[in-house]
Amino acid sequence: MDTNPGLRSASAHRGRRAFRFRLAAAALALAGLLAAVWMRVPEPAEWLSPRPTTTVLTDRLGGPLRVVLAEDGQDCRWVPHEEMGPWIGPAVVAAEDGRFFSHPGVDPLAIGRALIQNLTRGRIVSGASTISTQVVRLAQPRPRTYATKLIEALMALKMERRISKERILEEYLNRAPFGGFFVGVQAAAQRYFGKDARELSLGEAALLAGLPQSPARYRPDRRLDRALRRRAYVLERMVRRGYITDAQRAEALAQPLVIEQRNYPLRAPHFAERARAITPPEAMGHTVRTTLDPALQRLAEDALRRRAAELRADGVRGGAVVVIEVATGAVRAMVGSPNPDDPSAAGQVNAALAPRSAGSTLKPLLYAIAFDEGRLTPLTVLTDVPRQYPDYAPANFDGEFRGLVTARAALLDSLNIPALDLAREVGVERFHQRLRAFGLTTLSRPSAAYGLGLALGNGEVTLLDLCNAYAALARGGEARPACWFEDEQPALAAPVVSAEAAWLVSDILGDPDRSTPVALPAASARLPRVAWKTGTSSGFRDAWTVAWNPEYAVGVWLGNPDGAASPALVGGEAAAPVAWDLFRALYPRGDAPAFARPAGVRECKVCAVSGRAAGPFCSTVARDWSIAGVTRHLVCGIHVPRHSEDGLSVAEVWPEDVAAFLHRGRPAPAAASAADEPAAPPAIVSPKPGSPYRRWTPGEGAEQRLPLIAEARGRERLWWFADGEQIGSARPGEPVWWPPTPGRHRLVCSDAAGRRALIEIVVE
Ligand SMILES: [Zn+2]
Repeated sequence: MDTNPGLRSASAHRGRRAFRFRLAAAALALAGLLAAVWMRVPEPAEWLSPRPTTTVLTDRLGGPLRVVLAEDGQDCRWVPHEEMGPWIGPAVVAAEDGRFFSHPGVDPLAIGRALIQNLTRGRIVSGASTISTQVVRLAQPRPRTYATKLIEALMALKMERRISKERILEEYLNRAPFGGFFVGVQAAAQRYFGKDARELSLGEAALLAGLPQSPARYRPDRRLDRALRRRAYVLERMVRRGYITDAQRAEALAQPLVIEQRNYPLRAPHFAERARAITPPEAMGHTVRTTLDPALQRLAEDALRRRAAELRADGVRGGAVVVIEVATGAVRAMVGSPNPDDPSAAGQVNAALAPRSAGSTLKPLLYAIAFDEGRLTPLTVLTDVPRQYPDYAPANFDGEFRGLVTARAALLDSLNIPALDLAREVGVERFHQRLRAFGLTTLSRPSAAYGLGLALGNGEVTLLDLCNAYAALARGGEARPACWFEDEQPALAAPVVSAEAAWLVSDILGDPDRSTPVALPAASARLPRVAWKTGTSSGFRDAWTVAWNPEYAVGVWLGNPDGAASPALVGGEAAAPVAWDLFRALYPRGDAPAFARPAGVRECKVCAVSGRAAGPFCSTVARDWSIAGVTRHLVCGIHVPRHSEDGLSVAEVWPEDVAAFLHRGRPAPAAASAADEPAAPPAIVSPKPGSPYRRWTPGEGAEQRLPLIAEARGRERLWWFADGEQIGSARPGEPVWWPPTPGRHRLVCSDAAGRRALIEIVVE
């Protein structure tokens, strides 16, 4: 047989070429397939999304106040790789994935070993997981099958090509479970050792590194013996990897390990709750530093608790304190209840945020507005006499009327009538508007719903808003929202009244000679200089005190969450001691700063009797403060010249209601009389209104006179005025004789409480 080696060799050559070709095609196809598969493996950017994390609210010094768990109910506090300390990284690598730093995301040696183990035992005993594949699984949990293991391996391979080993380790250490709902090394370090991850010792880090593989089995607070055996294993692996020496391991094993049951912090609960509610969404999941001053908060809590305990016997169960730093508007302390844990006193309710009747606490703001509008100066004389306003007859807190009183005294004594007069002058709507500009946001009804009573505090305010309004006054009249976070961009301040007007009020209410409403024990009598105002709501339901200096505004409220009244609820007596306690603690040497007088406040000379600019007929002149370019220097209209047979003299002419009051002296306390008789004005029975009166032809010597008669309940004397001039007084039913002149006349009859009747008559 002829054999042709050339032919054979040619066909063999062809066969080899075809084989090579097919091999290349297959390889190409396989490469194409792999490339297609690889292309479809998701990029880490698509699935490695940030996991929800815990929000930790701290005080301004970083001490934790409140921990708010992540959205998924876990406690996870993300820390970057650089802040994990030197040990936890190596410990976890040694425990979980020894070749982590050299493999590409999957570990072929581990897979081979795992396959053999699983095949020989007939079940999965080893997963050959790497730290990288575990990151995939933690970020995107899937059922544990061979298929998902393949997918996870591919995703891990891709991740390794995109991000660094350090970053992968960081992802793992922040996502790994450490027992209970503690996720990540930082939450675990806090939970088991009460420290940050960066502070972990080698022994502590090794213990934590052993947990993620089976947290339920190794939790050191449940099974310390198992946890310690696991730790010994981790340390052994670290030695073998060369991460630590034998000596270091021995030292770590010898160190005592203290595992503590740590509860979450719950300090300043009402403040923390409020801060949590207004934490910006973008800050959630991080550590948020609030403005709370821990020392001041403790002082406020103690002072309020002490005072509430003293008043408990009088049926006072609630109270609140707010401290605001004037310069920044930062809330430095907030206590919403003397006993936050006492549900019987509604302790969980934050009374600092509850709208309550303002009482007299808005009067200083009214005076600031009136000063700002140039309407008066501290020595302007206001009239405090009984007067009838639509709907009610106001009395002062002590039921007395002062007659003539300076604005300064009226503010210091918190008189009602002058405040009502001022509110009427300013205008209720304007007053209301400015109060809202001061930040009293709960005065949300229309002005007409409050009426003049707004000056007496018939509106509702929260202690927080009130305290912040006084911080604005202390800031020179510039309002700004309260600030809750240290890193917050401060809101722009908006001027409500001028610095001059604000100073006048703070100066009056900060008079160092002013007596405090509560006698102080001799040892603690030294009070730093502060301005203050108290308030009591009608019916003894709310006792307020606001005290301020250039650095702090302190607001105190005492009352009952259910609004129950108590005779102990008088602003000065109930609430002021808490404010004094705080200011004494703030300035233990009594060296508080005083308000500096703004340049626009100038000295001026006023009539000592009327408080208006002194005119040519005013005999006594006093020194007063005015605001340059603002104060309207109205000349005294009380001192007028009178021409008589004896020549020129000076008369004092007062408005009719003042004159009536001055003639009769002080009435009986109005509070008592108001309770005894219903408020009805006198009724004029003669002359008859509307009907024309004809003058008789004048006879010789006989002066024509008209009887003025009014009826009223009781036998109190009535006062008559014609065209604003006082004519005389008489008891009800008795006449006062009046000589009429031709023309239209206005006749007024007023009783002791200022209730009055008015008619107009025409005399022909
Ligand atoms: Zn005068």
